[in-house]
Amino acid sequence: MIKYLFYQYSITLSLIIEVAISIPLSKTFNYLCDNEVSVGVRVKVPLARKKVIGIVLAIKDKSRYNETNFRKKREDTLGYKLKSVEKVLDKIPILDKSILDLLFWSANYYHYPISKVISYTLPKNLLLGKEAKIKKIIDFPNKLQQPDFQPTDEQNIAIEQILKSTNQYHAFLLHGVTGSGKTEVYLHIIQSMIDQKKQVLVLVPEIGLTPQMITHFKSRLKTRVIAIHSQLNETQKLDAYLMAKNGDAGVILGTRSAIFAPISNFGLIIIDEEHDNSFKQQSSFRYSARNLGFIRAQQSNIPLVLGTATPSLELLKIAMDKKITRITLTKRAGGATLPKVSLIDMRSNTNDALSKILIEKIKQYLSIDKQVMLFINRRGYAPIYYCTQCNWKAQCNHCDSTMVYHRHINRLKCHHCGDEKIPEHVCPNCTKQSLKILGYGTEKLEETLYSYFVDTPIIRIDRDTTRRKKSFAQHLEQINTGKPCIIIGTQMLTKGHDFSNLAMVGILDVDTGFLSTNFRATEYLAQLLIQVSGRAGRHKERGEVVIQTRYPDHPIFNFVLSSRYTQFASQLLKQRLSAMMPPFSHQALLCANAKNKQNAENFLHEAAILLKSIQMNSVEIWGPIANTIEKKSDYYYFNLYLQSNNRVTLHQILSTFSQHINKLKLKNKVRWYLDIDPIE
Ligand code: ADP
Ligand code: ZN
Ligand code: ZN
Repeated sequence: MIKYLFYQYSITLSLIIEVAISIPLSKTFNYLCDNEVSVGVRVKVPLARKKVIGIVLAIKDKSRYNETNFRKKREDTLGYKLKSVEKVLDKIPILDKSILDLLFWSANYYHYPISKVISYTLPKNLLLGKEAKIKKIIDFPNKLQQPDFQPTDEQNIAIEQILKSTNQYHAFLLHGVTGSGKTEVYLHIIQSMIDQKKQVLVLVPEIGLTPQMITHFKSRLKTRVIAIHSQLNETQKLDAYLMAKNGDAGVILGTRSAIFAPISNFGLIIIDEEHDNSFKQQSSFRYSARNLGFIRAQQSNIPLVLGTATPSLELLKIAMDKKITRITLTKRAGGATLPKVSLIDMRSNTNDALSKILIEKIKQYLSIDKQVMLFINRRGYAPIYYCTQCNWKAQCNHCDSTMVYHRHINRLKCHHCGDEKIPEHVCPNCTKQSLKILGYGTEKLEETLYSYFVDTPIIRIDRDTTRRKKSFAQHLEQINTGKPCIIIGTQMLTKGHDFSNLAMVGILDVDTGFLSTNFRATEYLAQLLIQVSGRAGRHKERGEVVIQTRYPDHPIFNFVLSSRYTQFASQLLKQRLSAMMPPFSHQALLCANAKNKQNAENFLHEAAILLKSIQMNSVEIWGPIANTIEKKSDYYYFNLYLQSNNRVTLHQILSTFSQHINKLKLKNKVRWYLDIDPIE
């Protein structure tokens, strides 16, 4: 009897815990633990012959295990002998319940293993077992600067309406035209949260926006403002993480991954430029930070504010369904008006980047000391290097794409795989010396502009000129001096920037957008045109936008010229409804790629058969279909599309599929992944 009691006693002390470990395996592991331990702390555990760091996900009900065996023989459900935890690293959980709830929700929804979700979201230093301690707490006796203006009536209404719903879940779409002062609305509601000792999470699309925004926020808010983004070093990342977690930071400003920041005293989430695609991660863990914003706000029971001048169709639909409150700012703040937009028909123009009219306009604006921005979404010197005799084109050996000529390094480069080579002098096909470039990119545009405007500074902002850390911020600083200059901007410059002396925007080449096979292309193009146009004339004098196109009759321009985004979006929504495309249905993509083309395609054929055998009539399956760019870095890409009007059914079929995926013969011959709510 005594012996029996002793046995019971030792059992209660040693627990079985489930641990997530950051290794490329999807499963979690069970261990025995003799020490005090709670969910969310880190533990050091043996795995194979190594010692690794893991996170405790659950403390398990011992009765599920074979208690009649002696401890060293006790086995877990898989029949392995359980090993013991070597050390418990934390007293206070690194991941508290609220953040674990979000991570489990994400793992489940995106069909992505919880251990990988955790290793994606935790700072590396914590995964390495380093102490959860702040090295350098950033200070905030900031010099506060209040603006010399009062909120407009529209801004006041927006502020009041949002503040009415604090302390509960409520989603708002702050739909304000470009330059309407959405940031001002954010600042007021944030300060109100700070006064209530609450923390606010603000998500912005690109790191480029952060330096400006962080200085702006710091100068306005009576709290510590921290930034979480990919350019921080590991120590800074850990510090930022802990300052958010401990409540030391009142405002956490970050790009998409900041949606997973631990926040102890959560008051509000703001997602700026909601429509922006960078909120969706396009590799490994393919989550949408915008969509998770809704989940996190619901789980934390707090308001969510999504701001934009060009709402995504997804948001417009849920606004129509009254699941989100739409607040509009219809006027530009501070008396500025929306720019005048006009088209230049390029059909009669030869291959020149710039029409004569546009060059004249640039001259005019520079002569009155204004800044001009030219938007072109193609970096490099020229996109095509070809033979005028036989039509041979320089193609990448590893991808289905042409190579782009980069003049400053005299190389042909593949923008998909990064491969580069010295350009041939004679045609490799017909051996004639008849090779030429065709088209233009940012680099050639810069050169052309120099020939017209010798004395004007030209600031080119693309991935080639901003590779170095801080160089983007330096370019922005130069623009913000307000001195006359020509800015060559790519996608990086479309978002949120507020350049006070920028009077004209020229949009050079968006016609490729009309040729895209993505059903969302028109929506994106409308957003891009309005956003780029929205950079012009944001202060006092009215700005001007000039769009060069070979499709001047395209209906999209009707709406863009008169800034009627919502009407255009409503038309698109009607089309989507009649075709039952998202947001009126839900999609998932099963993607496979392999060096052997047949394997990639056949794997998806196998997968399609398995999916169809799961028998859910309400899920449509199309494919496999080759990717738009079929070959990338020597791998062939194929997609299988799943679509359903019912999100739950779609996810059920995917879960069942994931459980049976091992049955697929080609599983180990391909790389595959699921993309939930794909956008490309
Ligand atoms: P949005 O994000 O809506 O495009 P911003 O928040 O960048 O617009 O604001 C545009 C400009 O208007 C900024 O320079 C800002 O300082 C200014 N502004 C905002 N609110 C007001 C206001 N109430 N009165 C005057 N100027 C304002
Ligand atoms: Zn040739
Ligand atoms: Zn390539």
